[in-house]
Formats: sequence, C-alpha cells, structure tokens
Amino acid sequence: MRFCPRCGGPLERRIPEFDDRERHVCPACEIVHYSNPKVVVGSVCTLGDRLLLCRRAIAPSRGLWTIPAGYLENGETVEEGARREAWEEARAEIELQGLIAVYSIKRIDQVQLLYKARLVHAEVGAGPESLEVRLVDWHDIPWEELAFPTVHWVLRRAAELRGDPGPYVPVGNPPAAPTLGAGFPPSSAEGN
Ligand code: ZN
Repeated sequence: MRFCPRCGGPLERRIPEFDDRERHVCPACEIVHYSNPKVVVGSVCTLGDRLLLCRRAIAPSRGLWTIPAGYLENGETVEEGARREAWEEARAEIELQGLIAVYSIKRIDQVQLLYKARLVHAEVGAGPESLEVRLVDWHDIPWEELAFPTVHWVLRRAAELRGDPGPYVPVGNPPAAPTLGAGFPPSSAEGN
C-alpha cells in the first residue's frame, strides 16, 4: 500500500505510538491503515456417503479439485460466507453441521475456517469459478489432484468424522506441517 485509501495522499511506514511494529500511517488523516490476515471460509459438503468437489476454473491450481471455499466478505458472518461460497462455486444449498478445522497459513497471512456441512439436496452445478462439480464417494477422492494442501488436510479430517453426528472439535494445522505456506491465493493474485 502506497497511498491512503481515504484521502489518496502518500503513506508513511512507521511505528505508531503505543505500537511495536511498523504500519502504514497517513500523516494527513492521522490514520493507521492496519494490514491483517484474511479469512477464508469453506465447507466439506456431504450427501449420504458422497462429498462435493469442485474442479477449479481459475488460477492458481486451475483444473484441480477443491471444496467450496473463498474469502469472507465484509458485512457477512462466517456461516453466511460458507453458505455463499457453496452456492457460488457449486450451486449447492447446504446446512452447516459444525466447524471442523481452523488453519493458519502464515506465509500468505490467511486463516481458514472450514465446516462440515450437509447438502440439502443433490442438485448441484458448476458456478463461474468451477469447470465442473461432482459428488464423489470417499474412496474416489482424487488425492493427487487436489488444489491446495489445506484441501488435503480438511478432507482427511472430514474422513475421520464420517458417521460422527457431532458436535465437532475443530483441529488446527497438522503437526507434520505447521508452517506450510500454502492455501488459497493471496487477494492480490485473485479477488475471491
Ligand atoms: Zn489519508
């Protein structure tokens, strides 16, 4: 960030009073423009013994499989965001069953809140960001063709929870890869 989003004037990098790290500060507005991690919301959506996967129509990882997920919007609860993403990417109506994972992706400053959800019905279809959507059996998950490490992680987590009616305890990053810097793309690369 180089210019103030409020007044358009040039920003300075400095440590504000009572703070301990450098921030973008507008000397004209006397406003600190904080930069904080972005929140991604998404769901592992199931119907009976199948789950919903989407093949990405957009970069990065175009052509690879993912779950419906994306950036939380302003003015939206995390639950609303998860339901919106399911609709946008897979034309899926879902009922959230519980939060099953919270992943911290430090390298790209991202937090992912991922739910287990039930599809309300089997009618699904590719939204503009998906090449195709499929309801696949758990045994048919294309593990070698998943778009992001966090998709692996959450599908493994969801597989553990098969048949478990909940309530669920959300897990964090797998211990084997606590600092793995991958996930959804940073917002500079892609809007949503
Ligand atoms: Zn300003």
